[in-house]
Amino acid sequence: MALQNNNSRAVTHKARRSKSKLIWLSVFVVSAAGAVLYSLWNGQSIPFAMLQNSMNQAQPEAPKYKEALEFAMTDFDHGWIRYADQIMVTSDGGVSWTTSDTVPTAVEPTSLGNGELRFLQAPKTISIVNYQSKEYSVKQSQFMTDHIGWAIVNDNGEAGSRLLSTTDGGTTWQTDVTGAVRQALEDEKLLLQRRNEESAFYASLDQTKLALQSEWLLIPNTVNQGDVVLVRHDKPDKLEWQGKSYTLQPFGAGYFTYLPVGTNVPPGDYPIGNKTLKVVSASFPKQYLQVSEQLESMRQDTKRIEADQVKIDAARSQSEPQFLFQSTFLKPIEGILTTPYGHMRYVNGKLSGSHLALDLAAKQGTPIKATNDGIVALADNLYLTGNSIYLDHGMGLFSQYAHMSELRVKTGDRVKRGDIIGLVGTTGFSTGPHLHFTFWANNVPVNPNLFFEKTPFQWLEKSTTNS
Ligand SMILES: [Zn+2]
Repeated sequence: MALQNNNSRAVTHKARRSKSKLIWLSVFVVSAAGAVLYSLWNGQSIPFAMLQNSMNQAQPEAPKYKEALEFAMTDFDHGWIRYADQIMVTSDGGVSWTTSDTVPTAVEPTSLGNGELRFLQAPKTISIVNYQSKEYSVKQSQFMTDHIGWAIVNDNGEAGSRLLSTTDGGTTWQTDVTGAVRQALEDEKLLLQRRNEESAFYASLDQTKLALQSEWLLIPNTVNQGDVVLVRHDKPDKLEWQGKSYTLQPFGAGYFTYLPVGTNVPPGDYPIGNKTLKVVSASFPKQYLQVSEQLESMRQDTKRIEADQVKIDAARSQSEPQFLFQSTFLKPIEGILTTPYGHMRYVNGKLSGSHLALDLAAKQGTPIKATNDGIVALADNLYLTGNSIYLDHGMGLFSQYAHMSELRVKTGDRVKRGDIIGLVGTTGFSTGPHLHFTFWANNVPVNPNLFFEKTPFQWLEKSTTNS
C-alpha cells in the first residue's frame, strides 16, 4: 500500500517535470526561430548574445518547486506540511502525502508511550542540515526521539520543497522515505515499547533513565556475602563469575542476569563489565541443634537425597525468559523466625553446613502464600524437605517452600502473588511445624530478606552512586 503511494507520487513528479521541460523547449524553439527569421530578413549573422537574451527574457518567474513553509509531525506516522497554496498531510510517516483543507489539530503522541522515555539525551536543536553533500540552513526542525527527526530547509530547489528526515540523530538526512527509513522508524517504535516495558519495573523515572543510559548497571553495586545482584547491560553478553558462565537474557531495552554472591565469596571489589561490585563481609552466627538419632540417620540415605536432587535440578534448569512479577515480593507467612539466613548449623555437635534459608515457625496448617507471581516448577514430596514447592519467577529466579503438611498446587500451575500454595507442616527433616523458605538465583541460594516488600529492580535505591 505504502509502496504503491510512493510510486504514484514519483510518477506525478516525473510527469510534472517533463511537462515543464516541454514548455521550456517550445519557448526556446519559438525564440530561436524568431531570431533566425529576423537575421535572415536583415541579412545578418545571428549573434550568440542575442540568442541568450531571448532565452533569459523567456524564463518564467514562477519557481520550479513549492516552498515548504511550516510542518509538524505528531508521531512517527502522522504529520502535515503547509505550502503557500495548500496543506499536505501524511499518515504513513511521509511515504505519501495528500492535500488537506486544514492543519490537523496536534495530538499528544500517546502511541509512543511515556514521552520522557523518547529522549535519553537532551532533545537536539540544529541549524544546518547536510543533504546530498550540500549544507542547508534549517527553517524548522523537530526531533521525535534521540534518533528520529524531521526538518524543512531554506532553499528554492527540491530540498526546500520537501520534508527531510533523519534516523541517526541528524548526521544524515534524506527526502525520500525509503524502505530503510521506514524500517528505522519501526525499530525505533519497538525500542520505545521496550523502554516503556522496562520502566514499569523501576521505582522512579530517574532510575529508569539511569538504567537506560548505562552501558553496565549493577543493581545494587554493594552487597553482603550471600546476596544477589541483578546485572543489566545494553548489549547481549556473557559474564564469567566464580567459575560459572552467566548469559545475559534480553528483557525490555536491556540484557539481564542474576549474579548470586555466595556466602563463600571473599569480601572485596570485583570488576563486572565496566563497573565494580563491592562485596561486604557478612557475619553468620553459629547455631547448635540437637535432634534424635532417628532423625539424624535420615541424612545418611544419600541415594534418596541424590534422586531428589535430580528432580530439583531438572525443575530449576529452565526458567521463563522474562520477569514474571509485577509488584513486590511478600513474606509467605508471618511466623516466628527461628533460624535466620546464613546460620552455620551444627547438628548434634557436627557442622552440617550453612542454613541458606529462613525458618519461620507457625501453627500446623497455617496457609502459605506465593511470594509473587510465578509458575510451579516442582510440587512434590521430597525426602529431606518433605512436601516442597519451587516457584519460577523468571530469568533464573526461584522461591522454595519446604516441610508443608499439604500441597495446594501442582507442577506447571501458574500462581499469582498471595495465592495459597500449601499449608505449614513438619514433613521431611524437621523438628516441628515451620516453613523453610528461600530464593535460588541461577541455582545458588540467596538471602530472602532482600526480596520482601521489594522487587530486584528496587535494589537500585541502595546504590547511591552507580560507579
Ligand atoms: Zn530450614
